Amino acid sequence: KVRVRFAPSPTGGLHLGGVRTVLYNYLFARHHGGEFVLRIEDTDQARFVPGAEEYILECLRWCGLEPDESPVHGGPFAPYRQSERKEIYREYAEKLVASGRAYYAFDTPEELEAMRSTYKSEENPSPQYDHRLRGKMKNSLTLGESEVKKLIADGVPHVIRINLPENETVSFTDMIRGEVSFNTATVDDKVLLKHDGMPTYHLAVVVDDYQMKITHAFRGEEWLPSAPVHILLWDYLGWKESMPQWAHLPLILKPDGNGKLSKRDGDRLGFPVFAMNWKDPRSNDFTQGFRERGFLPEAFVNLLALLGWNDGSGTEIFTLEELTARFSMDRVHKGGAKFDYEKAKWFNHEWIKHAPAERLLPDVKKVLEQNNISVADDSYVVRVIDMVKERCTLLTDFYEQSAFFFNTPSTLETGAVLPKWNADKEVFFRELTGRLDALTDWSAAEIETAFKSLAAEKNIKVGELQLPFRIMLVGGKFGPAVFEIASMIGAGETVKRINAGLQ
Ligand code: GLU
Repeated sequence: KVRVRFAPSPTGGLHLGGVRTVLYNYLFARHHGGEFVLRIEDTDQARFVPGAEEYILECLRWCGLEPDESPVHGGPFAPYRQSERKEIYREYAEKLVASGRAYYAFDTPEELEAMRSTYKSEENPSPQYDHRLRGKMKNSLTLGESEVKKLIADGVPHVIRINLPENETVSFTDMIRGEVSFNTATVDDKVLLKHDGMPTYHLAVVVDDYQMKITHAFRGEEWLPSAPVHILLWDYLGWKESMPQWAHLPLILKPDGNGKLSKRDGDRLGFPVFAMNWKDPRSNDFTQGFRERGFLPEAFVNLLALLGWNDGSGTEIFTLEELTARFSMDRVHKGGAKFDYEKAKWFNHEWIKHAPAERLLPDVKKVLEQNNISVADDSYVVRVIDMVKERCTLLTDFYEQSAFFFNTPSTLETGAVLPKWNADKEVFFRELTGRLDALTDWSAAEIETAFKSLAAEKNIKVGELQLPFRIMLVGGKFGPAVFEIASMIGAGETVKRINAGLQ
């Protein structure tokens, strides 16, 4: 049975690349009738940020990508928070020491610092704790057995490091990249267990993927350099047969293709990079999210799916169900995907345009309420939505595009009509109010007929009257058909706005 996992560290808001990793995991699991696990990798206490886990869960909920197992959903392999699994890892680290695949290291931070400056050279600018130097350091490979025992018994702080082979090729098949090889000469002896008894990510990710029976591990390309360490650990722990299939997902690139898209690019270029608003509780640093910017989750998920994948048909608009049916890992691209905010907005516009008004109702009401427009009548809002949704790219656009349906415009953009304004037109609108008052059927068609017949009687071109009429009703030169607007806001309000406009 397919089992995949998304394993974020709760260190902050979720970058759109993180949500795409969630999505590809989710789609793969659903496509194969498997399970999707959310595991919180919170063993690095220094980087732990309160609120980040809740944020991640809320984000998955908003996107409709609910996990089957998680710290809040529970599941057969609970707990799903690594800090609560602390006891599990030490045993495996000790096992690795016993088999010679890992060793105790007693070096103090000062000693490590001294090592870095002593061995720094032109061909080794940043010396690592690796096969070249471990023989010169204070660890169980260089100290006698009795001394090691004594140090441990005395409670001298120590870590456990992996004992990497000096010059071995580690190869594996990545579902996206094909055959990938690393030479262990380029990798340092990563810490597996820290002074405080907490595992590092490297140990915990392997132990948990094994224990949670993960069959496929998909993660961002930035984890590719760690893959050889993980693969060797699977081997050293005797679990090679159960190792998941790997896929390292391509990066999401800056709009110009120059490097990985960062939070700062969004700030600089004025678009969101996080899924939802995020405020770092330590720095109060604020980052805008797609949700609050006015994206529909359906559109967000759709555009993320297409950042690095397509089904080969040229189709771009997919529902989550359609994506689930069509998704396959072998159509994920190797190369990075450039993020284009204009294209992202295009997806959102498509989704808004085609969404049933009832679907948009709660979101639109929220936007209106945030702008102090309180609405009592949902069916009225639904009709408004149908009239303006085609003009809205972001949900937030609904405010500007529809405020005049709820409130009398406070200012009128008269600049466009004043130069051509004259007494005849004024007379037309004064008489129009009487004609409109007399209408028994307040439909757009009836209003239009009354308007046009009066224009004909007065011998004024309808075209020259429609713009002033629009400005009176809407305040500006935008919006749907003007007779529809009049019909929507009602007879009393229409007459009131004409009179106000004539002032
Ligand atoms: N905890 C890692 C992260 O924060 C997970 C990497 C992986 O999926 O193996 O991204």
